[in-house]
Amino acid sequence: MYLKSIIIDGFKSYGHRTEINGFDREFNAITGLNGSGKSNILDAICFVLGITNLVQVRAGSLQELIYKGGQAGITKASVTLTFDNRNTSQSPLGYEQHEEITVTRQIVTGGKNKYLINGSNVQNNRVKDLFCSVQLNVNNPHFLIMQGRITKVLNMKPPEVSFCILFLLLKVINEEISPKLQKL
Ligand code: ATP
Ligand code: MG
Repeated sequence: MYLKSIIIDGFKSYGHRTEINGFDREFNAITGLNGSGKSNILDAICFVLGITNLVQVRAGSLQELIYKGGQAGITKASVTLTFDNRNTSQSPLGYEQHEEITVTRQIVTGGKNKYLINGSNVQNNRVKDLFCSVQLNVNNPHFLIMQGRITKVLNMKPPEVSFCILFLLLKVINEEISPKLQKL
């Protein structure tokens, strides 16, 4: 499945309903002035994917994700991702019959949080399972290369880069390969 559209409403700097579509299946770039809301779009995607560490979406609480922290008359933040699911070989488990899948996450001032799949209310775990079945685990530390992290690596001096690569390699061996070897 691939991302077809994003609807952001009341999330971070997107006070009004904003729809973004026309995505390429393989490569997309977001351009715009500093502070215009590019990273907020990525944060919105991570929000629906179920990010648990809010620091990674640059917020201290769910409330902070609402437009102006809920202080400007907008009390709800909602993000909907629509996926094209016509390629059944890449469908999430149990969704092979759906040509399109929409996943929405909403939060309301006061901390109420809800998820919807294809318009129906579901438990958090249903969304987690859906994405994990297509290897989309936003909470896996290898998944994210968030703002600033690429720059940090690029600015490193050679010995630091070697150390960083060694560290990442050890981390991958430890977290990804070792458990698989243990299963054999
Ligand atoms: P850069 O090019 O510097 O990386 P950017 O396009 O990625 O910029 P973002 O980080 O997406 O910009 O957006 C930053 C803007 O979002 C800031 O002006 C910030 O005040 C605004 N913002 C963040 N959270 C909220 C919120 N809850 N309500 C309203 N505005 C918010
Ligand atoms: Mg940015």
